[in-house]
Amino acid sequence: MSTAAETPVTTRTTVVPPAPPQEQIAARSAPPSPQRPSPRQGASDTLITPNTQRATEIHTELSTEKSIVTIENFKLSYGKAEALHGINMTIPIGKVTALIGPSGCGKSTLLRSINRLNDLIDNIRLEGRILFNGQPIHDRNVDVIELRKRMGMVFQKSNPFPMSIFENVIYALRIGGEKRRSVLYEVCERSLRGAALWEEVKDRLHQSALGMSGGQQQRLCIARAIAAEPEVLLMDEPCSALDPVATAKIEDLIYQLRGKYTVVIVTHNMQQAARCSDYTAFMYLGRLIEYGPTNSIFLNPHLKETEAYVTGRFG
Ligand code: ADP
Repeated sequence: MSTAAETPVTTRTTVVPPAPPQEQIAARSAPPSPQRPSPRQGASDTLITPNTQRATEIHTELSTEKSIVTIENFKLSYGKAEALHGINMTIPIGKVTALIGPSGCGKSTLLRSINRLNDLIDNIRLEGRILFNGQPIHDRNVDVIELRKRMGMVFQKSNPFPMSIFENVIYALRIGGEKRRSVLYEVCERSLRGAALWEEVKDRLHQSALGMSGGQQQRLCIARAIAAEPEVLLMDEPCSALDPVATAKIEDLIYQLRGKYTVVIVTHNMQQAARCSDYTAFMYLGRLIEYGPTNSIFLNPHLKETEAYVTGRFG
């Protein structure tokens, strides 16, 4: 596996729609009638009664991608309440996939299912399958610790350990028993470079990670995830606690990680999805409604439910 530091830095301008998606869509479908509600004014769930019999609208571009994760008719219940009602989707390898949808629609539940983090919750019930590189992740012989190493997770709130920056980054290697200083320092530098943090912290590697800014702490958590050499990075609203400058840095970073890693990001921020993802999956009420290239989902969605959401008419 090559390192993130070797990944050529690509600019984000290639995927960013020329204007914020809401504005573009509003412009594209400018109302001929003054009665048509402007975004947000007509917010009503009656606008979008999803047809529960209808299969997910999956754009054809996804069939040309090689997938690393395959989700087959996956259902998850918390106690008696079913939160995911039969999700079918594939996650393309080396791409950034954003999960969007209103709060409570099941984005985090789906994300946490991919590396079996929901196993830690009592009283959940699963149906269907999730395959990682073709292997069902719930098979009895799957080593869950190893699975989570291969699918690193970055949470909403950064969670640096109360130790030095260096020890945070190389944590997975320490746990694995690696003692060679040269290896530890090499991985530390490579991971911090991969997380676009090296230049800011290279002179204070042995100071506490808790003294870093919020944005730096979140990039540190990404560096720690990268150091474990995952194939997939799962990110659950990684910028929700950050200011706009720190958010922009993380978004740049996510964009640069593509190709090297497969990234799945949950975000409630549609412009963030538009800026940093290749594919976007729109979820609603525990179902996957529409899934396709990010530009199509925002600029030319196939379903009225998706258009209503991305134009800000509910959510
Ligand atoms: P989202 O990430 O889209 O906001 P979640 O996946 O967090 O949605 O939640 C989906 C549904 O599952 C919601 O109805 C939520 O209340 C419920 N839920 C999430 N986590 C738990 C849990 N640990 N126990 C019980 N219900 C949960």
